[in-house]
Amino acid sequence: MTLSDRYSILFEPIKVGPHTAKNRFWSTPHAIGYGIDNVASQAGVRSTRAAGGWGVVFTEANTISPDMDKTPFKMSRMWDEGDVRNQRFVVDEIRRNGALAGIELEYNVSVNPMAEGRGLQPKMVSGGIGDSGLSVAYAGTLLELDREGIEEIKQIYVSAALRARDAGFDLVTFHAGHAASIIAHFLIPYYNTRTDEYGGSVENRTRFAREMLQAVRDAVGPGIAFGLRLGVDTLDEPIGLGDRGLRSDGDTPEVIKQLDDLVDYWDFVPGVVDWGIDAQSSRTVAENHEKKWVDGLKAFTTKPVVNVGRFNSPDTMVEVLKSGQCDFIGAARAGIADPYLPEKVRTNNIGDIRECIGCNICVSRDMISMPLQCTQNATAGEEFRRGWNPENFTPAKNRDEPVLIIGAGPAGMECAMILGKRGFENVHLVEKDSKIGGSINWVSNIPGRHEWRRLVEYRELQLSQLDNVEVILNTEFTAEEALEYGAGIIIAATGSHYMRNGIDPYNRLPIGLDPVYGERVLTPEQVVRDGVEVGKRVVVVDYDGYFMGPGIAEMLAKRGCEVVLATRGEHIGEYQRYTLEISHTLRDLRDLGVKLRTETSVIPAGDSKVALVSPDWQEEFEFDNIVLVGPRTSDNGLFKGLLDRRNEWAENDVSMVHRIGDSVRPHFIAEAIFSGHRLAREIDSENPAKPLPFIRERRIIDATPEDYQLGAKALSSIY
Ligand code: SF4
Repeated sequence: MTLSDRYSILFEPIKVGPHTAKNRFWSTPHAIGYGIDNVASQAGVRSTRAAGGWGVVFTEANTISPDMDKTPFKMSRMWDEGDVRNQRFVVDEIRRNGALAGIELEYNVSVNPMAEGRGLQPKMVSGGIGDSGLSVAYAGTLLELDREGIEEIKQIYVSAALRARDAGFDLVTFHAGHAASIIAHFLIPYYNTRTDEYGGSVENRTRFAREMLQAVRDAVGPGIAFGLRLGVDTLDEPIGLGDRGLRSDGDTPEVIKQLDDLVDYWDFVPGVVDWGIDAQSSRTVAENHEKKWVDGLKAFTTKPVVNVGRFNSPDTMVEVLKSGQCDFIGAARAGIADPYLPEKVRTNNIGDIRECIGCNICVSRDMISMPLQCTQNATAGEEFRRGWNPENFTPAKNRDEPVLIIGAGPAGMECAMILGKRGFENVHLVEKDSKIGGSINWVSNIPGRHEWRRLVEYRELQLSQLDNVEVILNTEFTAEEALEYGAGIIIAATGSHYMRNGIDPYNRLPIGLDPVYGERVLTPEQVVRDGVEVGKRVVVVDYDGYFMGPGIAEMLAKRGCEVVLATRGEHIGEYQRYTLEISHTLRDLRDLGVKLRTETSVIPAGDSKVALVSPDWQEEFEFDNIVLVGPRTSDNGLFKGLLDRRNEWAENDVSMVHRIGDSVRPHFIAEAIFSGHRLAREIDSENPAKPLPFIRERRIIDATPEDYQLGAKALSSIY
């Protein structure tokens, strides 16, 4: 069996309503922080996905009325003619690149802060006390929806669907997942306490969806495939709704049967308003983790079924299709990390797939309403505004200059790889360690972070395929040696390290543990990378606010240590709130008996005792070791040494010296990789140290189309 035979099932066309999808790759709706106001950026992300071979490409959940404005969350909208025009541009770009274009429409009743519309309220309010109606928990108030309100909301759906048709979409999904939309609230007994024909039995609870779908079909006519993204299981209490929710082994099959004749496809997801169950990171789940909720539901429908669940490996995808679990492989993150995944499978370039590591940095960007970022794929979100395509590279004008990159961590690996792909004739990537990967080599040993190894594995393979890039291990350079090496371009990618002391970022005073306790204060590198022995009683002091502090606490607790995890922040592992990992992390730490302390300063209180001081209380802990997680500082000695010898550059034929990644500023891995990528993309610009202006999508008075091009005069004074 050839490779292509093995994966051929992924490329079997399939009918979806009036359309035929060319393959089984379904890019599911997901927000990217551009909304529809930044229309070209929106189109850039989606059309790249289409160019990469996804048969169906959705944009994202669209609010469909000012009644449910989700500002400050930056989502697309389908409110008016202006939105239709912008959406049409996105549709054209998706279709021009060979995919069917889909949109998700949502009348959300759970999260709609209405921060822009100010005072516009859901119809539940204007409806007032109606037919002893649908009770909706909104802003802590139970609201009721009367018949007039029901008709109004149905009409809002119809109007939005008509606009979707006018914009040219091929598929329209109605969001009924994550216990968020009005459709879901009608379906779920917890929310729907009505006693009229819209409440009670499954037939009654599906009535709103049936009536809405029929009204939409009547108004829109043929030509569009309609589907439901159905929340098939609202989980056990206390996370979920228990018996008062919708369960895949309960009412869900009947819900599917009741609505099946009105949809053309189903997109099944589990979860409640906290969509962290659906979008779990690799810390907690492996591929196809939603199987336990969605498997078997296909038996209750005659229509194609989409499943999601961190699908990454083409082998898993094949297995899932062959098992009959679903008809489409739905994915957001796999496509963010590698928009060209389907094309790489089709052309038997499996090893070139840039596999998602499941870190959920992309999710966090959505949660803080910022443009898309991806740890693996530095070009994600930069397709339009920087003109980057993840697979296309222009030959560099100065590619005959030999390049020396010192440090093969995330930034150095990425920079060397992109310079190699840009045709540099001679790139040397030098690493003092015996392997490339830098901090990833030990960070990936922290519990739940082993999939982060893919950051190294992908680049290792790519570098091995580039004849013009040589990797040199076990080699250190002084500034003098670097200058004399024979490189025209020298790039320091020397990383950063956790400090054994430092400045408390909250009060700008010295942290002050190291001067008192000396060797008993350990850094993450010592504990995780170097395997320094740690005593029984450990206080982990976290100034980092992300995965490192909780990860080390978990690792040590699993070894049998008694662990206190203290942070000055208001939350343990603050940033994990945005990666949707925090509830799992807290549960695991509590299960392991880790004592969690927030808003806490850790100060010396004796020879082997620290005081944990919060605004309201103080307690003391005996300890054997303290692990100080943060701050980090750049390892930029080499770069400074090179700058100090600037007068020697010319005599050594060195034209430029740069630094990238953590050696500039310790940051997320995603930022380090971006930094290396950015420099390599712009190494032949006038001043590569300064990022080129990117296109800022905004209204410009008296604008011409040229004002929105890279290099435009309107952008010229960005620096
Ligand atoms: Fe995957 Fe992380 Fe990229 Fe998101 S940011 S797509 S989780 S690698």
